[in-house]
Amino acid sequence: MEVDLASICGNARAALEAAGAAARLVPMVKADAYGLGAPAVVEALSAAFPGEIHAFGVAAVSEGEALRRQGWTGRVIVFSPTPPGEMERAAEAGLTLALSDEASIDDWCAVATSRGERLPFHLEVDTGMGRAGLPWTDVAERAAAVVERVGEALRWDGLFTHFHSADEPDLGPTDQQWTRFREAVAALPAGVREGALLHAANSAATLRRGGYACDLVRPGIYLYGGEAGPGVRPLPVAALRARIALVKEVPAGSSVGYGATYTARGPERWATLAIGYGDGLRRALAEGGGEALVHGRRVPIRGRISMDVTVVDVTGVPEAAPGDVCTLIGRDGDEEIRVDEVAARCRTISYEILTGLTPRLPRVYTGAPSADDRASLR
Ligand SMILES: *Cc1c(COP(=O)(O)O)cnc(C)c1O
Repeated sequence: MEVDLASICGNARAALEAAGAAARLVPMVKADAYGLGAPAVVEALSAAFPGEIHAFGVAAVSEGEALRRQGWTGRVIVFSPTPPGEMERAAEAGLTLALSDEASIDDWCAVATSRGERLPFHLEVDTGMGRAGLPWTDVAERAAAVVERVGEALRWDGLFTHFHSADEPDLGPTDQQWTRFREAVAALPAGVREGALLHAANSAATLRRGGYACDLVRPGIYLYGGEAGPGVRPLPVAALRARIALVKEVPAGSSVGYGATYTARGPERWATLAIGYGDGLRRALAEGGGEALVHGRRVPIRGRISMDVTVVDVTGVPEAAPGDVCTLIGRDGDEEIRVDEVAARCRTISYEILTGLTPRLPRVYTGAPSADDRASLR
């Protein structure tokens, strides 16, 4: 698995430009930076955008702790609701929490009081996502009580919402969520409203709606090479390659793979690759008409994908030989298989393909920004 760090930085630059000069970045690096490796991604982005990163975004306290062990001393925001039992650890690691209700605010206050520290949080507003956040309809009614609870114990850094459909062709539902968020912002007590950083946009809302001109944008998938809505294409980032281990000529009638779901109709040449679903190459890809690239040409996957082995038909590529590189995701010559193509064939989304690539695949990083590149990226 190859990961092009220069392309991640290029995609981050495009996200920043779309969001406007005033916006800062909260790159989402949860789930090990969508499977690509959070340590390398954090190092590359923090080197390339020293003044433009407000914080890194994670989902879990343990992920924030990992960034600290790696040496990132800037802000880290934990976006998934944090169970009360993990708040002490969050404070110890110096993390900022996203909070959704009075109970979680009280829990975070108790930790702050016992530590004698003022702890930071962002309040989430639920505008339709439903999984977390204070309902937007309640903000007017409940905000004063929240301010009272927060008192001097906490630092109210921001207010945000999360869009459910910003990558759909129709942006109507996203605009409606945005309107709801603006209503919630307007209902905040003066003093809070002026001090709070506002943010709403994931990748799709950043690229398609300029991040709704907020203070912060929170791109994830676009940084990592996944499309952020119809036709919103980033630079490709991840490539998945395997070497051909065996090549054989088979007569008509030969079968391949568990269940013998494929039978050669005539004489064919099959190449065996040492990669399978144990590496994250989905079984569904074969059923979905999955292809690979060999010597810059598309070849079909034959039969079912096994845990460790996949067979492709190289009848049309006579020069294919053991040791040659076969590309499952990425470019080879003039041909390219994008992660979104693989996702569509597997009837899922690029997020699930990338986060499903398992630790058995070595991550090989290219394009780490040099000092010169960093200067030109700025
Ligand atoms: C994951 C996540 C994002 C990033 O979403 P993408 O669609 O990957 O850009 C933004 N905000 C929150 C709260 C998230 O959990």
